[in-house]
Amino acid sequence: MSWSASVLTLFPEAFPGALGVSLIGKALESGAFSLETVDIRDFARDKHATVDDTPAGGGPGMVMRADVLARAVDAVRQGADARPLLYLSPRGRPFTQARAKALAAGPGIVLLCGRFEGVDERLLEARPFEEVSIGDFVLAGGEVAAQAVIEACVRLLPGVLGDPASLGCESFEDGLLEYPQYTRPQAWEGREIPAVLTSGHHGEIARWRRAEAERLTAERRPDLWAAHERRRDVDKAR
Ligand code: SAH
Repeated sequence: MSWSASVLTLFPEAFPGALGVSLIGKALESGAFSLETVDIRDFARDKHATVDDTPAGGGPGMVMRADVLARAVDAVRQGADARPLLYLSPRGRPFTQARAKALAAGPGIVLLCGRFEGVDERLLEARPFEEVSIGDFVLAGGEVAAQAVIEACVRLLPGVLGDPASLGCESFEDGLLEYPQYTRPQAWEGREIPAVLTSGHHGEIARWRRAEAERLTAERRPDLWAAHERRRDVDKAR
């Protein structure tokens, strides 16, 4: 059985979206992973196919109904479905490369995309949901976030990327951001590729890249840099 993602959404037409192109699209076509969309509206029971209602206690917008969502979730997760159940939400724990790795190593994921003001809290209590955020900003719906999470996982699956070696030296792999990349032409708008990269000295190239990765991380992500330095201190103390 290949890695599989099931997405519960009010807008199945948003998929595969970005997951349908390039190497991820090829992986989908070849069956390296499978993608199922479930239309939440199919689980509404009244003649208007209502999936939402006004917020208890007042306030703007609409809230997605727990009963309708639970029917959709339960229909997808029948029997021994060991896939983690994720709700995309700005309130969730920030999604990370480490989480993508762990999810890619498992059987797949089931994702719930919210819309409007989000979902009735009781649903999140009554089913084993993990809330996951893709960043400190608010989207109009969970569909783009779901595609981001699926894409981050799928590109880690064996055989999906052209060159698996490219996975080893990326941003976050070592707790650092990636070093700057260059390609031909050698000179462009008066800017040269750093000479060390065309020197052929593999040791010096590796040292330069390492130093640049550290410089960029310290400059841009003091949080990652502090964690990196803590790990380095622990390693030294060993
Ligand atoms: N009222 C909510 C936001 C609702 S946005 C709040 O303030 O927390 C509508 C839907 O978009 C959410 O239910 C969620 O599924 C999705 N969404 C919005 N921002 C997101 C983010 N940063 N990460 C993941 N999903 C997000």
